[in-house]
Amino acid sequence: MIIGVLALQGAVAEHIRSIELAGASGIAVKRVEQLAEIDGLIIPGGESTTIGKLMRKYGFVDAIRDYSKQGNPIFGTCAGLIVLAERLEGSEEPHLGLMDMTVARNAFGRQRESFETDLDVKGIDTPLRAVFIRAPLIKEVGEEVDVLSMYKGEIVTAKQGNLLASSYHPELTDDYRLHELFIRMAQERGQTHVGR
Ligand code: GLN
Repeated sequence: MIIGVLALQGAVAEHIRSIELAGASGIAVKRVEQLAEIDGLIIPGGESTTIGKLMRKYGFVDAIRDYSKQGNPIFGTCAGLIVLAERLEGSEEPHLGLMDMTVARNAFGRQRESFETDLDVKGIDTPLRAVFIRAPLIKEVGEEVDVLSMYKGEIVTAKQGNLLASSYHPELTDDYRLHELFIRMAQERGQTHVGR
C-alpha cells in the first residue's frame, strides 16, 4: 500500500513516519498527478486557511474531489478535518466540502489550546493516545457519518464511507493504530477495485 500525504503545509514528515511504522509506504504529494500513484491520501494538520489556499492554487480541489468520488480513502487530521468538512461554523466557506459534518475551528479556547489524552475509538481495542493542538470539533454530522470517538461529549473522530477524520494529531505519538485503521480502509478498497 502506498499512502500519500498532501504536502502543501503542515505535519507531513510525521505522518509519513506513522504510515511507515504501520507497515505501508508513505510519500509526500506535491503535484496532482501523484494522486494516480497512491492508495489513500492523508490531509495533515497545520493551518486550514493556508492549506485551502494552496490547494486552490495548485489545482488540488477538483483533483481531490474526483479522487474521493472514485471511492479512494482520504484521512483528514485536525486542519485536514476542517478541509474535508461540508460546513464550517461562522461565515467561512468550506474547502473540499466532502464530508457531511459541521465543524467549529479552534473549539477548545485559549486555556486548552493544546493537550494530550487517551481516547476510546471504535475499531481500536484499547484507548488511543491523542494530541490536540488548537483543535477543531465536529458539532453535527449527517446520517451517513459513523461517530468513532467522543471527547467530553463532543465528536472528535468520524468516518463516512471512504472518508476518515480526526480532530487531533495521531501522527505526533508512537501510537499508529489510527493509521493502521486507515491502511485497512485502503486495503479493503484495493480488493474491490482492480487497477488504480
Ligand atoms: N487551528 C488550525 C486551523 O484552524 C488547526 C490546528 C491544527 O491542525 N493543529 O486550521
